Amino acid sequence: MKEIEISVKLGKELTADEIQTAAVKALGVSPKIKGQLRYRIMRRSIDARNDILYRYKVEVYKPDEVMDEYVLEEYKNVADAEPVIIIGAGPAGMFAALRLLMRGFKPVILERGKDVHQRKFDMAKLSKEGVVNPDSNYCFGEGGAGTFSDGKLYTRSSKRGDIREVLHQLVRFGADPTILLDAHPHIGSDRLPIVVENIRKCIIEHGGEYYFDSRVTDIVKKGDGSFDVTTSSTIYSSRKVILATGHSARDIYEMFDRKGWEIQAKGFALGVRVEHPQSLINKIQYHGKYQPFMPTAEYSFVTQVLDRGVFSFCMCPGGILVPAATSEGELVLNGMSNSQRNSKWANSGVVVQIEPEDFPEYAQYGPLALLQFQKDVEKKMFEYTGSLKAPAQRMMDFCRRIPSNGLPQTSYHPGAVNAPLHELLPEHVSLRLKYAFPEIGNKKMHGYYTNDALLLGVESRTSSPVRIPRDPETLEHTQVSGLYPCGEGAGYAGGIVSSALDGINCASKI
Ligand SMILES: Cc1cc2nc3c(=O)[nH]c(=O)nc-3n(C[C@H](O)[C@H](O)[C@H](O)COP(=O)(O)OP(=O)(O)OC[C@H]3O[C@@H](n4cnc5c(N)ncnc54)[C@H](O)[C@@H]3O)c2cc1C
Repeated sequence: MKEIEISVKLGKELTADEIQTAAVKALGVSPKIKGQLRYRIMRRSIDARNDILYRYKVEVYKPDEVMDEYVLEEYKNVADAEPVIIIGAGPAGMFAALRLLMRGFKPVILERGKDVHQRKFDMAKLSKEGVVNPDSNYCFGEGGAGTFSDGKLYTRSSKRGDIREVLHQLVRFGADPTILLDAHPHIGSDRLPIVVENIRKCIIEHGGEYYFDSRVTDIVKKGDGSFDVTTSSTIYSSRKVILATGHSARDIYEMFDRKGWEIQAKGFALGVRVEHPQSLINKIQYHGKYQPFMPTAEYSFVTQVLDRGVFSFCMCPGGILVPAATSEGELVLNGMSNSQRNSKWANSGVVVQIEPEDFPEYAQYGPLALLQFQKDVEKKMFEYTGSLKAPAQRMMDFCRRIPSNGLPQTSYHPGAVNAPLHELLPEHVSLRLKYAFPEIGNKKMHGYYTNDALLLGVESRTSSPVRIPRDPETLEHTQVSGLYPCGEGAGYAGGIVSSALDGINCASKI
C-alpha cells in the first residue's frame, strides 16, 4: 500500500481513472493492471494558497494487497441486561450509550430537556420572545449543546481515541458520508436533529431507555455501593452512573459542592462573538478568487497577548448568532449554521484564556470561583440591555475605545444595542482583544480588522469553568467509585467529537 496525494481544481471531480493512473506510478506496476488497482480516499482538504485546489490523500493497493475496512461493532439487545444510568443526552451521553449497547449493558438515559423536535419550539420562543426555559434551550435538551450548532467535527484529540468510531456512527445515523473524508467536516443544524433522533431510536430498539423532562437533582451512593439517582418525578438505581451533563449544568456543580464531593476551579475562555459579512471572509481566505461553488470560507487563529492565549472559537461560516443562555437574567451568545452554510454572515467567538489566579476577588467561591465570575459577566451584559438584545460595538471602535456611530446589521435575532463593550467586559479580556484584533488583521487575515465587523457580548460558554476530577486509569470520580464524570462538563473534552470519544472511553471502562 502507498499513500499518494492528488490535487484537483475546485469544482472538478476526482475520477477513478485519475487515481489509478497515479497509483500505477506510485506502486511501480504495469499500466496493464491499472483497472485492478484498488484505492481508498482518506482525506480531502482545500488549498487556497495559489490556484484553489482540493488536495486528496489516497491509499492505493496492489491487487494482492489486503485493504482492511473499518468495521463498526454491532449493538446487542440489552433489554434484560444490567442498567447503567447516563445523565445527559449530549454527545458524551449518546456515544457512551452506543458503546454500552455494543458491550451488552443497558443504557438508561436521563435528560432534563425535551426530545430534539420539541426542543425547537423552546428555542424559537427564546429567540423571538426572550423566554428562557431553564431545561430546554440551546444548551439543554436531546443531543446536547451541539445539536443546534454548526456541527463542526474537528478535534485535535486523536490521542483520546479512535475518532472513526464517532464519524462512522454519525454516518450510520444519517450524516453525509463526506464527513469521513473532509479535513474540516461539519454536519449542520438542519441535519443534526435527524442524526440525534436516529441514535435515540436505535438505543430504544435495542432495549435501552430514554427519559426526557428528567432533570437529575440528587445522586446518592448507598451502602452497597450502588446509586439512587433522583429526578423531579422518579428515583432510578444502578451500580454505575455516567455523568455527562455538559458545561452549563451549574446545578450539578453546586450539588457536588454541597455534598462535599471534590470539584476544582478550571480555566476557561471568555470574550465576544465577532460577526463579519461572509463575502468579506470569502474574499480574504480565497485571496479574492472566491466563486459561489466553493465551500464557504472559514478561519481560525490563535495568538498570545500579555501572556494569555487569545483565539477564535467555534467559527460558523455562513451562520447566525443565537442566544445560548440557560437561565433568566443572563446573556450569552453562540453560533450555528445549516449544512449549506449559506447565510450572509460569518461569526466566531474570539476569546481570551482565563485562569483562576486572574480573578483573585473570586477566590472566596473556592472551586466555583470562575463559575461565579462567568455568571457575573453574563448578568452584567443582560442588565445593560435589560433583555436578550446583545451589547454590541464595531470592531475598530472597540479597539480605539470609542462609541460606535450606529451598528451594522446582525444575524442575531433578538437584536443588538449600541454599547461600550470595551467597558462592559472585564479589563483582562477587553485589553487583550484590543491588541489582538489589529494584529490578526495585520499579520494573518488582511481585511479582518474593520469597522464593518460587529462585536457582540458575551461568548462565555467555551468550556467548563469547573473540573470534576477523576482517576486517570479508571475514569471514576476520585472519591466516588462507580461514578464516571464524563465529557465537556467534567472538564475532559471540548467539542462534539472529543465529548463523544470521552463518552466511549467512560463506557469502555464500565
Ligand atoms: C450553539 C452552540 C454551538 C456549538 N457548535 C459546536 C460545533 O460546531 N462543533 C463542536 O465540536 N462543538 C460545538 N459546540 C460545543 C459542543 O456542543 C459541546 O462541546 C458538546 O456538546 C459537549 O458534549 P457533552 O455531551 O459533554 O455535553 P452537552 O452537549 O452539553 O450535553 C449535556 C446534556 O446533559 C443535559 N443535562 C444537564 N444537566 C442535567 C441534569 N441535571 N439532569 C439531566 N440532564 C442534564 C443537558 O440537557 C444536555 O443535553 C457548540 C455549543 C453550542 C452551545
